[in-house]
Amino acid sequence: MSITDLTTTKKPDSALRLKILGKIGEQKPYNCFQCIRCTSGCPSMKMLELKPHEIVSLARLGFVEELITSGIAWTCTTCLKCKERCPQAVAPVDLIIALRNIAVEKEAKVPESFLHSLSAILETGFIQKPQNTVTRKLERMNREKLGLPKFCEPDEKFKAAFFKVLEQSQEE
Ligand code: SF4
Ligand code: SF4
Repeated sequence: MSITDLTTTKKPDSALRLKILGKIGEQKPYNCFQCIRCTSGCPSMKMLELKPHEIVSLARLGFVEELITSGIAWTCTTCLKCKERCPQAVAPVDLIIALRNIAVEKEAKVPESFLHSLSAILETGFIQKPQNTVTRKLERMNREKLGLPKFCEPDEKFKAAFFKVLEQSQEE
C-alpha cells in the first residue's frame, strides 16, 4: 500500500507525533514553510516515495505509523544535504533517523542491507567488509597485493561499546 493510501485511510496519532518530536532535539519541523529546498537537493528523491518536505509535513501532523509502515525512511542515504539546505533549521534527515529508531522499537521490518551493515560493523568495524578489486588488466587484487596493512578485526571492547550504544538508542 502506498503512503498516500495509508494516510488517506488513517487518522494521525498525536502520541507518536510527540514521541518523534522528542527525538529530534533542537530541530523544529513546525518552522517548515514547504519551500522544497530539501527535496530539490536530495540525491534519493527519485527513489523516495515521499520527498523530504512531505516527510516533514506528514510527521508534524502525526502520520508517524504510516511513514514507518511505508518503509520510505530506509531509502534516505543520510547525506545530510537537506539539513544543510534548509533555511529554517528543520532537518528532514533527523526526522527520518527518528522514524528509523521508532521503526526498530516497534519491531517493524528493517531492510536486510541495514542488518548486513550492522553485522559488518561487528565483524570489521566498518559498514562494509573488505572487498577484492579488479585492475584494468583484469587482475584480481586484495589488500595484501595492494600493499595495504593487514586488516584488524575489532576487539571485544569495541563490540561491547557497540552493543551498549545500540541498547541506549533503543531506550531513548
Ligand atoms: S528546506 Fe526546510 S523549510 Fe524548506 S521544505 Fe525543506 S524542511 Fe521545509
Ligand atoms: S539526508 Fe536523506 S532526505 Fe536528506 S537530502 Fe540526503 S538522502 Fe535526501
